Amino acid sequence: MTADAIVKHPPLPKQYGEELLVFDYGEGCYLFDRSGKRYLDMGSGIAVNALGYGRSDLADIAAAQMRKLIHVSNLFATEPELELAGKIIAAAAPGGSQASYEAVHFGNSGSEANETAIKYARLYAKTRRGEGHHRLIAFSNSFHGRTMGSLSLTANPAYREPFTPLIPGSEILPFNDIKSLEKALDGTVAAVMIEPIQGEGGLHIVNRDFARTLNTLCRRYDVLLISDEVQTGLGRCGSLYASGIVGLEPDMITLAKPMAGGLPLSAVLVPAKVNALLKPGHHATTFGGGPVTTAVASAVWDILSEPAFMAETCRKGELLESLLAAEIKKTGMKGEVLGAGLLRGFRFQDDKYDGAWCSRIIGEARNEGLIILKTGADVLRLAPPLVISDKELKEGVNLLFKVIKKNL
Ligand code: PMP
Repeated sequence: MTADAIVKHPPLPKQYGEELLVFDYGEGCYLFDRSGKRYLDMGSGIAVNALGYGRSDLADIAAAQMRKLIHVSNLFATEPELELAGKIIAAAAPGGSQASYEAVHFGNSGSEANETAIKYARLYAKTRRGEGHHRLIAFSNSFHGRTMGSLSLTANPAYREPFTPLIPGSEILPFNDIKSLEKALDGTVAAVMIEPIQGEGGLHIVNRDFARTLNTLCRRYDVLLISDEVQTGLGRCGSLYASGIVGLEPDMITLAKPMAGGLPLSAVLVPAKVNALLKPGHHATTFGGGPVTTAVASAVWDILSEPAFMAETCRKGELLESLLAAEIKKTGMKGEVLGAGLLRGFRFQDDKYDGAWCSRIIGEARNEGLIILKTGADVLRLAPPLVISDKELKEGVNLLFKVIKKNL
């Protein structure tokens, strides 16, 4: 990286920082900055670029669709949109559960998908049970987005507090705590939103007993269970939905990041009992489910939902886990590898290796030509493209620990 690869004081909001590295192009699992330096990307644009960069197959589909028909609005339908929704509905529910989905609402971002699911749940509770059944529950360390509704269910005080008051009736309960769930959950709740594995909040995994209790209580009180699979879904954790891995049986699932190969597209999987209540005017979006994004997403879906592809992600996830565990052991430090599939991370069990230390590692790794991420307060996160090779995984872990060893 040379100095001219960095833009200082970009004409972008300061929330993104005063200095940004400017990327020029990508190929496979590598990114190239505008000075020509190459980086192995183990962040995938925050778990988006599952199929890597420079995909002429996806570019050709997008270009052909742009020439044919680029946008019609939701006053009409298009073939790519119908085809993609059909494929999503036809796929099995997570973990072989009895749940089924009758419709797919397409949007443009993860936040928007969660926002939509919240609105559907509020509508459902109000229609079925009347006023006063609008509470919304999420859990500590959750991340569901930054628009006002999804922010109300995002736990991190640094993201929430500048914007309070948030939407009424939203509550954050301790994650994986059955007792507090039993105490809080009743028919006054419209929805519970949960990530099977907390992508931004430290890779904590929903435990099976908690999932079982959540399924049972939501069913008992007719509360809608929403699984936020914006980060974990579509093969990232080695199966189509991570809900099945942890035993969640969601009424609605939200999806986004890898859905359209890097183009903005999100989805809410809607069950018949919610769909039956929806009337024109209840919800809509101008761009959601446009023919270009859904045409690309249909091809992405065919690749990501292929059992052999998911099996490969599981295998590579285990390889990544063992490579990390071996390197952690070599340092003589204690540290556990977290996550599932190709959404992995670890922290050293020592307060010295805090968030500031993680940020230093991320910066030095970047200088060495490796892109990695942080999650939670002090967890280093790896979410490489799912098409990464064994050789590239080893290269990434070696580079990372070269940097870590200099900082122990
Ligand atoms: N939910 C989860 C689990 C996420 O990881 C994210 C993004 N990191 C979101 C929601 C919000 O998605 P977006 O940034 O596309 O609005």
